[in-house]
Amino acid sequence: MKTYQLGILEGDDIGLEIVPVAVKVMQTALQRCPEGKITWIKLPIGASSYAEHGETLPRKTLDTLYTLDGWILGPIGHMAYPKNDPKAINPHPIIRRDYDLVSNIRPSKSLPGIDSVHKNMDIVIVRENNEGFQPDRNMHKGTGEFMPTPDMALSVRVVTRRNSQMVARTGFELARMRGGMKRVTAIHKNTVFKLGCGLFVDACREVSREYPDIEFTTAVVDTFAMQIIMRPQHFDVVVSTNMFGDILTDEAAGLVGGLGMAPGLCAGDRYAMAQATHGSAPDIAGKGIANPYAMIMSGQMLLAWLGMKHKDTDLVSAAAAIANAIEAVVAEKRHVTPDLGGTAETEAMGEAVCRKLLQ
Ligand code: ATP
Repeated sequence: MKTYQLGILEGDDIGLEIVPVAVKVMQTALQRCPEGKITWIKLPIGASSYAEHGETLPRKTLDTLYTLDGWILGPIGHMAYPKNDPKAINPHPIIRRDYDLVSNIRPSKSLPGIDSVHKNMDIVIVRENNEGFQPDRNMHKGTGEFMPTPDMALSVRVVTRRNSQMVARTGFELARMRGGMKRVTAIHKNTVFKLGCGLFVDACREVSREYPDIEFTTAVVDTFAMQIIMRPQHFDVVVSTNMFGDILTDEAAGLVGGLGMAPGLCAGDRYAMAQATHGSAPDIAGKGIANPYAMIMSGQMLLAWLGMKHKDTDLVSAAAAIANAIEAVVAEKRHVTPDLGGTAETEAMGEAVCRKLLQ
């Protein structure tokens, strides 16, 4: 029997509430698997780790991640970390880079029971995760942003053929697996960024030749930003460089009920990390009202990814069961959090999903 080791990194603020709920849902869905299939390992990270170990990302955590198959990471509230302390770094860009989690997969799906702009939207945006304009991870050493003079700031954008191809391949595989429209759209602005966006589209087109069953199209980022609002039904899987994708995924989340409804998976060839699109929401932390949907579905995506990678039907069916159970809970509206129009607390919504799984 193939066994798996999965990490639990709770993160900060609402992460401390939604990650335990997501893990409980995953464990409930996995109850039907043979005993010992999954070992869970809790690892320190973020503000609580700083308080206990003096570091937001201890060496022990980094070293242990290499031994795992995947992990679930809660949102990080790095804006509240002590300033100018090298031991109080924002951990998640480092994890994304060091474990080569190149593709950030972010689905946006309208669900029955959720007040959303469109009723039949179902797209996945795959965003490059480790280069682009993001200065905290796009350089081997140093940062991609600097000021040669006090009155001039430069931001360097990095686009490589390797990462663009990896993102494209993730997108084409997803389009094939989803079996819907079978369309991949590459987002660019190659009218202006002739080299950077030109290389990205070129790499996507190269990969598209390996997938003759999938239609390949391109869209200019500003036009796409409008089209996704007017007719998102035209799109299936969308692939993008880092910053365009960061903005477009929040826009897509807004079309299907907000950030609490936006799950995500950061994946490379070797590891995957469940990480919701939203931040640590310090404004609602500790109130028990955070919507756990995005975190639960991020965990669901991790199980689906592992199941596909290892052709493990136990994990694939656990993932499918979680998706069905949470969609039913959301549609019924009896046990949903206030942002979805309900009165349930975070934990109660998770328990409702667990009950559905056990029915
Ligand atoms: P970051 O820059 O770290 O991604 P952000 O600036 O996008 O963070 P969030 O922390 O995601 O900000 O919060 C944005 C808004 O969305 C806040 O009002 C927050 O309360 C709300 N929000 C975020 N996540 C959830 C959730 N899971 N449930 C309910 N509301 C949420």
